[in-house]
This record gives sequence, C-alpha cells and structure tokens, in this order.
Amino acid sequence: MDFDTIAAISTPLGEGGIAIVRISGEEAVDIAEKIFRSASGKSLKEAASHTIHYGRLIQPKTEETIEEVMVSVMRAPRTYTKEDVVEINCHGGMVSVNRVLQLVLNNGASLAEPGEFTKRAFLNGRIDLSQAEAVMDLIRAKTDKAMNVALDQMEGRLSKLITALRQEILETLAHVEVNIDYPEYDDVEEMTHRMLTEKADHIQKEINKLLKTAEQGKILREGLSTVIIGRPNVGKSSLLNSLVQENKAIVTDVPGTTRDVIEEYVNVRGVPLRLVDTAGIRETEDIVERIGVERSRKVLKEADLILLVLNSAEPFTPEDKQLFAAVEGMDVIVIVNKTDLPRKIDMEQVKKVAGKHRIITTSLLQEEGIDDLEQGIADMFFHGELEAGDITYVSNSRHIALLHQALQAIEDVQAGIAAGTPIDIVQIDMTRTWELLGEIIGDTVQDSLIDQLFSQFCLGK
Ligand code: GDP
Ligand code: ZN
Repeated sequence: MDFDTIAAISTPLGEGGIAIVRISGEEAVDIAEKIFRSASGKSLKEAASHTIHYGRLIQPKTEETIEEVMVSVMRAPRTYTKEDVVEINCHGGMVSVNRVLQLVLNNGASLAEPGEFTKRAFLNGRIDLSQAEAVMDLIRAKTDKAMNVALDQMEGRLSKLITALRQEILETLAHVEVNIDYPEYDDVEEMTHRMLTEKADHIQKEINKLLKTAEQGKILREGLSTVIIGRPNVGKSSLLNSLVQENKAIVTDVPGTTRDVIEEYVNVRGVPLRLVDTAGIRETEDIVERIGVERSRKVLKEADLILLVLNSAEPFTPEDKQLFAAVEGMDVIVIVNKTDLPRKIDMEQVKKVAGKHRIITTSLLQEEGIDDLEQGIADMFFHGELEAGDITYVSNSRHIALLHQALQAIEDVQAGIAAGTPIDIVQIDMTRTWELLGEIIGDTVQDSLIDQLFSQFCLGK
C-alpha cells in the first residue's frame, strides 16, 4: 500500500529515562540517514535489519549535534507496521524528545495521527481488529494481570475462538444449503432442523461462555472498586498507607478527569484494587462529611469490595453495627485491627455480625496480618480457580456489545426453529450471527468504524 512516512513520540510524555521517536514508512531509513551520524561511521542504509546503532543526531545544514542517541533499524515486513521502521532512542525530557521529533518532521516525515501506527499494522494485514484494540488496552493496562489479558488478546486468543465459531456457522450454513439443494432423504426438512438446533445450541453456549468472562475482564481492566470504612481512629489511614506502600501505587493515566472522589490504584497479588475516596480517608477522615450522605451511599453501593475496619482495643459499638448494616449483601472483608493492644472487642460478637464475611486480624502498627489480608483479597477474587490464566477474558466494551448482539441473533435462530419458521428465514439470523462475530475481529466491519476506533489510540502507537 501507498502511505506517507509517519513519525511520532511513542513513549509516554514526561520525565522518563528514555523516549522513543518512531518513524514508519518507505522513507524511514532515508530520513534517519539524513539526521544521524553513527559513531562507527557506517551508513544506516547499509545496516542489517533489526540492528541498533549508537551515534548522534545532527542538524543536516549545519552538522550541529542535537543529541546522543541509539537508532534501531527494522526493515519491512518483520516490523510493527509491516513497513520499514526506525526508532530513535533519546533522552526522556520533554524538550529533548520534542526537538528530535521536530528534526524528523523537518526532514520528510509527517506527524502520525493517534493510533496510526497500529492502524497501519491492521491495514497492512499484520494484526486483526481485536488485536489492534488489545494494543490500546495494553497502553491503558493498569496492572500486570490486566496487561496479561491484553497480551493474550493480542496474541489472538479471542480471535482464534471467534474464528473457529464463525467457521462452524459457515459450515452449518453450507450444510443446510446442500440439504436443501440435494435432499438425500424424504425428511430433509426435519433433519435440517435437528442439525440447526444442535449447532445453534452449541454456538449459544460458547457465546455465553465468552460473555461470562467479560465481568472478570472488566474488573481486571478497571480495578476492583474498593472502599475502606470504619469508625474514626480504627486505622483506616494506616490500612490505606500499608496497602499503597506494600503494593506500588499505580498512577492513573486518565488525563483531565476531575473527580470529587479521589482514587488510587494498587496491585495486590495480581488483583487490581481501585481504592475509592482515598482523599476522604486521608484528609477529613469522614467520607460522609466530605462528599455528603447521598454520594457516599452511592460510592458504597458501587463498590466491588468493602474493607470494614474494627478496633480490637475497644468494645464493639452500635456504630460498628450500623456499618455492617450499610454493606449488607456486599463483598466485605472484616479487619480487626490493633491486635497489639489488650483486646476489648468481643470476637464472638464480631463473628456473629460478620456472618459469612472473612475476618482478618491485623496490627497495622506492627505490620502484622497484612499478608493474610492480601491473601484474603486474592482468594476472594480468584476463588482459587481463575489464577491459571487459561481463560479468555473479553474485556473490551465493543466486543461485549457485539457478543450480546450475536447472542440475540443466535437465540433468534433457536426461537425460529422452535416455532417452525421456514429455513431461509432462520438462515438469515444465522448469517447475522456470523457477521456480528466477524465485526469483533474486523472482518465485516465498515471503514468508518475503523477510523473511529483508531482515533481513540494514544498518539505514537
Ligand atoms: P483512621 O482514623 O481510621 O484513619 O485511623 P488511623 O489510621 O489514622 O489511625 C489512628 C491511630 O491509631 C493512629 O495513631 C495510628 O498510629 C494508630 N494505629 C493504627 N493501627 C494501629 C495498630 O494496629 N495498633 C496500634 N497500637 N495503633 C494503631
Ligand atoms: Zn486516619
């Protein structure tokens, strides 16, 4: 295909250690050659593919040195875009990386649109649409686990499953055609119905299975919304601090979001926790006081996990009891803190009120019990069965929507068969299922949708 040579900064902006300016297209090497002088004196044009070269960037007119850099040369087609790609590794500061980009643009490249590199990879046939979207998820992935989900998807796991399902549908449709055109038996109608029923049931089950993983996938991407509650002075701040310190906080990368409720991400043994309203805990100590009764009720209601903290050194109070009532029916871990002090709380009473909720005892001051708590959180989330990572998580909202539509279409097939609808009508719904599944991997997707999708990408990917 015939594209310009494009360039962009492909590492996050900011004060990182190094930054990469990526150039892709037919002229990538020529452009780099104009502005690069290797320490060895060799030309990039003669460089073997997938090699890296040390040297300096220069202003071609004046030969003035701009920066010390490492330049990677990767020739088509074994590259991200399937085009010639050159990556310039330079110092990470904003000023320096922008200067490098400017130099590249002044020497023949045009600025890449958001997602354009990945779009090219897609258009050049290197990846399918669900893989392209996985790249976007990868950029946004907040934890290792979420990263793995995105990686799996990128490796085409979901694509493979969808492709197999579509193949089955196609074969079924073909089979139905043959049955209709060359009836071998007198009861061809009945036989066709039976086969269609069997296949439709199977496909419905498979789509449902994929959809079931969606919830888990969503949590992995967005974090388990977690709220710490408890009376004043029981140790909420201490708990927050130890969770954040033990598990490196993950910086949220959603720019420009102004929220009343401050969030912090931590990764607890692979479970991403989105600690909600950490400001409420850090500043005013009182979530109700800070955001009002209505809002805090909403925050509680939307939580996936409640960490309810009690003080072991004080008797159980009516206020504690009210907190249990407020989170009834939710996933709660009860934390009995300050076990280093003489115990005043009645543990039998706590057990009774806690019911089926897990109870963990801690001394946050002496850093005891934090391991148990983390294990408790992980157990709760993975139910001891999901850790293996052999599940295909559907975590992209477009995919989920399409799966729901495909499910509806296949259920129309089932209903049609049950109602004795003519086969050619049933075939239409079956074909629709095939098309909808195809949209997930970008097979039956329209161009406008493709443009819209890729414009969501970060710049430089
Ligand atoms: P919050 O009001 O619920 O946020 O409670 P804080 O985390 O601010 O803790 C209140 C006080 O209890 C602070 O002085 C903490 O140092 C102290 N504290 C927290 N955890 C423990 C613990 O396990 N043992 C003891 N003895 N003191 C603790
Ligand atoms: Zn506090």
